Amino acid sequence: MKKYCIVANFVVPLHVFYWIMVVLDGKYIAAQIRAELKKEVADMVADGHRAPSLGIVIVGHNPASETYVANKMKACAEVGIEARKIALEESVTEAELLSCVANLNNDSSIDGFIVQLPLPPHISEQNILSAIDYRKDVDGLTPENVGRTVQGLPSIVSATPRGISELLCRYNIPTEGRHVVVIGRSNIVGKPMAILLMQRPYLLVPKMSVAAVGNATVTICHSKTRNLKDICLTADIIIVAAGSPGLLTADMVREGTTVIDVGITRVDDPATPKGYRLAGDVDFENVAPKCAYITPVPGGVGPMTIVSLLSNTLQAAKKI
Ligand code: NAP
Repeated sequence: MKKYCIVANFVVPLHVFYWIMVVLDGKYIAAQIRAELKKEVADMVADGHRAPSLGIVIVGHNPASETYVANKMKACAEVGIEARKIALEESVTEAELLSCVANLNNDSSIDGFIVQLPLPPHISEQNILSAIDYRKDVDGLTPENVGRTVQGLPSIVSATPRGISELLCRYNIPTEGRHVVVIGRSNIVGKPMAILLMQRPYLLVPKMSVAAVGNATVTICHSKTRNLKDICLTADIIIVAAGSPGLLTADMVREGTTVIDVGITRVDDPATPKGYRLAGDVDFENVAPKCAYITPVPGGVGPMTIVSLLSNTLQAAKKI
């Protein structure tokens, strides 16, 4: 069925308005935030404080993890955060890694640290994350930080949901009263994202210019959800973090929806120099024309995640 609307007494087919679809530029917004952080760090140092410091623990030689860590260190250098990489062999025991975490908890020269995931299968990620002092947990993954976020207490929020929140805020995309469908229920993306969206917004990260998302009506979907398409068709905003390339297709999205694509999957592509390309969870080409706003992959949520780690490090350094 064709749709029309009336503009200044002219009847215009609605598809004309597809041209106002906006691609959310995570690269640009992340650069803007990095510039703000750089100034904040410079001000701290000018006031006589040392520069904020971030510890990054990496176990083994997972190529994707090594790339992520290199990107995080580069981003730190750009804003003046001191990054210290602690590289451990794949064979490290859980006890040795716990001891490394304890040392970082007690090291007053480190404001925050992360343990790059995934860990080798012989190490329990949950045991390691639970051992991190929540005040230094700049990935926002400890039970304390997640619990504090659920209760609306000041907390450090997981970087990807924080980054998505910033992106929505900086593009003035309101969440209040909107129906947001989150596809994915991981501890790192889906669950914390849903919590932020359903919260009363004013309690989040006080004193920081961040994330006034909240007051949304949230539906969380996962691999056992029935009628995913029907649910998505009732959404004002869809956030998809499934790791399933092309999962969200055009027939699942109504006109004017905002779509945030978190997915990053390496897909074989012999036509590219690296032999692979990065694919999101959204069939971008066909979904985008129906959207009010949409994030690309790459260049959407990814850069926002990295810059949010820097924001979290500054938050930890300021102890707020
Ligand atoms: P995850 O732990 O594997 O969780 C995936 C979630 O998606 C699960 O809850 C799963 O349901 C659900 N799911 C999978 N296939 C589905 C389907 N066909 N229909 C509905 N739900 C489905 O992954 P994650 O760590 O959250 O990451 C998700 C994606 O985001 C990955 O591609 C990852 O690389 C990417 N990511 C990107 C960034 C970034 O900065 N852009 C950051 C983090 C993650 P079940 O729980 O039922 O299994």
